[in-house]
Amino acid sequence: MTGTRWRNWSRTVEAAPATVAVPRDEAEVAAVVARAAATGRTVRPLGSGHSGSPVAAGDDVCLRLTHLDAVRPVDLARGLVAVGAGTRLDALSAALLRHGLAVANLGDIDRQTLAGALATGTHGTGAAHPSLAGGVRALRMVLADGSVATCSPRERPELFAAALVGLGAYGVVTEVLLHCPPAFLLAADEHLEPLDAVLDGFEQRMTATDHVEFYWFPHTGAAMVKENTRRPLSAGAEPLPRWRALLDDEVVANGLFAATCAAGTLLPGLVPTINRLSTRAVSRRRYTDLSHGVFTSRRRVRFREMEYALPRADLPEVLREVRRLIDLRGWRLPFPLEARVSAPEDAWLSPGHGRATAWLSVQQVAGAPFVDYLTGVEEVLVAAQGRPHWGKLHTRTARDLAPLYPRFADAQRVREAVDPAGTFASGHLDRVLGRPATAAGGGRSARPGGSCGDTLPGRRRDVPQRA
Ligand SMILES: Cc1cc2nc3c(=O)[nH]c(=O)nc-3n(C[C@H](O)[C@H](O)[C@H](O)COP(=O)(O)OP(=O)(O)OC[C@H]3O[C@@H](n4cnc5c(N)ncnc54)[C@H](O)[C@@H]3O)c2cc1C
Repeated sequence: MTGTRWRNWSRTVEAAPATVAVPRDEAEVAAVVARAAATGRTVRPLGSGHSGSPVAAGDDVCLRLTHLDAVRPVDLARGLVAVGAGTRLDALSAALLRHGLAVANLGDIDRQTLAGALATGTHGTGAAHPSLAGGVRALRMVLADGSVATCSPRERPELFAAALVGLGAYGVVTEVLLHCPPAFLLAADEHLEPLDAVLDGFEQRMTATDHVEFYWFPHTGAAMVKENTRRPLSAGAEPLPRWRALLDDEVVANGLFAATCAAGTLLPGLVPTINRLSTRAVSRRRYTDLSHGVFTSRRRVRFREMEYALPRADLPEVLREVRRLIDLRGWRLPFPLEARVSAPEDAWLSPGHGRATAWLSVQQVAGAPFVDYLTGVEEVLVAAQGRPHWGKLHTRTARDLAPLYPRFADAQRVREAVDPAGTFASGHLDRVLGRPATAAGGGRSARPGGSCGDTLPGRRRDVPQRA
């Protein structure tokens, strides 16, 4: 397929790949990569385009792995399943359930592909639970020379450690060996609490329940707390009545929210009042349902997002600092800020590498000014040793990031070894991971980034303040 235009879900990045290949199997992936490498072209594997940063943008050969979507049990007793890299997370949950299994933890949505989600360190919440990458036992990949490699903690362990959260910079993942627990229920308790009470008891609260997160509504003192406790299937589901689920998720969370965001964009002065009224309208919900249905929901209101991984214990102080900044700068913010936690991880480029992590996400509705807000908050998050989510907006470069990741230089070394000519390079990857030394002066990463642009423009005068 040629002449295709590509854009991401949040409409922050556009690209015009020269070719989009849709290989039917791994052998075809290998053939496309080998051909591209031999003719000096670059290759970018595409997921479902849910990254807000230009990490998935490619302007030469792009690969859609929609045909690589098989879910194949390997050892059901041990919960080991081989999953095609292009499998969407919602399809994965459905297929696993048929085998009595589930994905251990999920984020807010399940429209991403498995390989795309792994590549940026996609995570949910839970102090004892790492990101999706924590469940991966091995990867099958097509490398830049067209060869197929398997890597795991035992086989090519350095490639595994680097490529697991690898931004698509190490090769094309074709299959993932995933460890999946027995299917389980989540008992959900969603309610409002004063933000200060949540921050005062942060450590205890975030570690007391399996999966805890909260949303703070700017311009109010209220936080919506979501506490999900794991239960065996035998405990029995008590789902929300269908009318209540539809009302909350479709009408309130999407329809009404879209309308209030639109009103707030037109009349920003109304936003604090809208937020206060919205929090008053929230009523407590308790229900028990299959894990994937509780972890994830539909997000139809498009937004711009930045999220940083912080040392867990520092989140209360950081969020208080961000609250002071919002008051000081007078930004009008209809979207809540989201706080989650995750366990330390081994993957070298995981933002949760080596430390108990708290995540803080800030979002602005599409169409409203966002650059000043995101870059202003980013200064606070950077000062707190934060590491940006690879799939969301940020301004950090390899030079900034290297001191924050103890194995950054090792990750660069492995990248250079497996892709010396920069077949999987892009302008964006050069910026955030550095440029392979061997690609200097004629390497393919010197190609212009097309309209992939920057991750998040710095606060410069020429930056449009509207989306
Ligand atoms: C509404 C919404 C909600 C979100 N919620 C969360 C959340 O709760 N938690 C969270 O952590 N993130 C969240 N995200 C971010 C999202 O999970 C990540 O950006 C994720 O990477 C997107 O997956 P994708 O399939 O769309 O991949 P893309 O964005 O298309 O690609 C991401 C990266 O994966 C690479 N890639 C894709 N396929 C392969 C492959 N086969 N081999 C190697 N590399 C590959 C691409 O080259 C690119 O570098 C959310 C995003 C949106 C829009």
